[in-house]
Amino acid sequence: MNAQSFVSLDDIRAAATRVAGRVLRTPMARSAALGEVAGVPVYLKLEHHQTTGSFKLRGATNAVLSLTPEERARGVVAASTGNHGRALAHAAKEQGAVATICMSQLVSDNKVSEIRRLGAEVRIVGHSQDEAQQEVERLVAEKGMAMVPPFDHADVIAGQGTLGLEIMEQLPETAAVLVPLSGGGLAAGVAAAVKGMNPKTRVIGLTMRRGAAMKASIDAGHPVQIEEMPSLADSLGGGIGLDNALTFAMCSDLLDDVILLSEEEIAVGMRHAYAAEREIIEGAGAVGIAALLAGRISPSGSVVVILSGRNVDMSLHRRVINGASSAELEDAG
Ligand SMILES: *Cc1c(COP(=O)(O)O)cnc(C)c1O
Repeated sequence: MNAQSFVSLDDIRAAATRVAGRVLRTPMARSAALGEVAGVPVYLKLEHHQTTGSFKLRGATNAVLSLTPEERARGVVAASTGNHGRALAHAAKEQGAVATICMSQLVSDNKVSEIRRLGAEVRIVGHSQDEAQQEVERLVAEKGMAMVPPFDHADVIAGQGTLGLEIMEQLPETAAVLVPLSGGGLAAGVAAAVKGMNPKTRVIGLTMRRGAAMKASIDAGHPVQIEEMPSLADSLGGGIGLDNALTFAMCSDLLDDVILLSEEEIAVGMRHAYAAEREIIEGAGAVGIAALLAGRISPSGSVVVILSGRNVDMSLHRRVINGASSAELEDAG
């Protein structure tokens, strides 16, 4: 079976209709500075301006809207404390559903209050992300809540794919799209949309060298687990799941290339975004700019760079902008 058929262009078009008016259609801005570096027109897809600060609202909103009224009434649940947790909390609240976000006791008070502020119930259990995930599974089994995972779910992938649809509508001649890559929900959805509209457009996944689980899995030919390490691109952390059902096959099939970036290259990308483009982005959102600046992409036509999120701790952002080296950033946490 062709992996592309797991989530089709039609599924993504249906998702776009469903989420219309509930997520922002984000602008594309041409970057003169990056165009000079790359020698081709470069456009930034300003998705970090999405409500809740990342594209994750697209998938979460599509997933919540795809539930039956009975399912929605029982509530949604997830274990993510990052951008997916924020997006799901917001999407559920907008649709009048209760979101429960499970977290371990190790999560900062900061994150707990942020998720509560977005209207979700927070359940604090155990001392690890694994224990938080076990609580999610218990709530699904006992209370019939709907689990909305961060990437390996057809409705989530279709929702993220609406970003690819928008890019091809805004710039039909796009020759290459640079997509931040972790669990692969964004890359799978964007690639299915982009390739569905123009099979010749290249879709390139970008991630940090530290803990690149999807890249290691594609190279191995099956999902593998690799050690997690702290990174400036913290939203790209985490594995793809050894029982991955959709995103591994779709990314293997649809991505033209996967490029790995060092911590220093990611920091350079964040600095360029701030100084030259006047944009505050988190490390995960900076990998596309980082790859262009590092000369790792050889484009043959217009390039679109997805700036995927902006939820960075501002004191960390300030240290990056002020030129802290990656070693210094690590010392400072
Ligand atoms: C989640 C996330 C990604 C990676 O998305 P996947 O679907 O897990 O590959 C990239 N950037 C930001 C800002 C994110 O929050």
